[in-house]
Amino acid sequence: VSGPWAGRRARLAGTLAGRGLGVMMVTGAANVRYLTGYVGSNGIALVGPSGSVLLTDSRYAVSAREQVTGAEVVIGGRDLLADVAARATGMADGGAVGVEAEDMTLARHERLVELLGDVPVTPMRGLVEDLRVVKDADEVAAMREAAAVVDRALATVLAAGIVGRTEGRVAFALLEAMLDEGAEGASFATIVASGPRGARPHHVPGSEVIPADTLVVIDLGAIVGGYCSDMTRTVATGDLPPRLEEIHDVCLTAQRAALAAARPGISASELDGVARASIAGAGYGEHFGHGLGHGVGLDIHERPGVRPGSSEILRAGMAVTIEPGVYLEGEGGVRIEDLVVLGDGGNEVLSTSPTELRRVD
Ligand code: ZN
Ligand code: ZN
Repeated sequence: VSGPWAGRRARLAGTLAGRGLGVMMVTGAANVRYLTGYVGSNGIALVGPSGSVLLTDSRYAVSAREQVTGAEVVIGGRDLLADVAARATGMADGGAVGVEAEDMTLARHERLVELLGDVPVTPMRGLVEDLRVVKDADEVAAMREAAAVVDRALATVLAAGIVGRTEGRVAFALLEAMLDEGAEGASFATIVASGPRGARPHHVPGSEVIPADTLVVIDLGAIVGGYCSDMTRTVATGDLPPRLEEIHDVCLTAQRAALAAARPGISASELDGVARASIAGAGYGEHFGHGLGHGVGLDIHERPGVRPGSSEILRAGMAVTIEPGVYLEGEGGVRIEDLVVLGDGGNEVLSTSPTELRRVD
């Protein structure tokens, strides 16, 4: 047995008959990778009780045969969807062909229905994501390393100084440091938001110079072995106005309360509520608009969403961020984010950079 892929495909295949499906057509890139090991832009996996096929085009022939074990690799022609439909017809075995509703375009769906003729097409939601939500030890190990890369990269860049540099330059330096530390890339575009720009949770860093005596929100993640990490720290570039010092304290208190409350069995909305109540109790409730966190894995944002109204119950092996923020328009903002793997015997916080307010010149 080599790798986790065959086991994952077997688990998916085992759920199909009960849903009236003969075969599942998997098109989402992260889902295809999760089930087959295939990494590339044009790959479709057919998974069913009778076996699995990965279809791609000639550009990926060599890499697909290296990456995929235990499933047949088919190099399709110019019209990959026609090749997929032909194989799916044979594999459906009287059932429907399931497709990923959250990935497939309307145009592709229309064409597939046409190609499949009498074989029904059933849009499905979240079948592979249901499997991905709980991580195995190898997945956690990759994320642990991705988090360590970020810890080291942030330390390097902060030690070099950030005041007087542009936000864009610091974001670029963080990417370079992550690559130096062994990252395959960044898991999302790094956020560096200083002064009043810190009040915009997803600020895009550009030519603005980082001033002294304010807060700087730095949100970054690395990819290692295909898996993402995600961390935010907010640092002071000198003496802070009292309100900015206060909101860092408020945010840190809320983040620690949520870290302490995170455990298997708690609902995602209840966990969100712990941080939300803490911030509201300090008088800043209306300044925390986004959800508390999100799942992380092959994708930077995946299930479970940790936010008000989420019905998901957290389970051991889930990897979620805990990232409350307090944003004061025109003044500044703070967000503190850790990536946590839930366990029955306690959680593992993957990021180790200090969260206390520290001064960086
Ligand atoms: Zn983040
Ligand atoms: Zn995040």
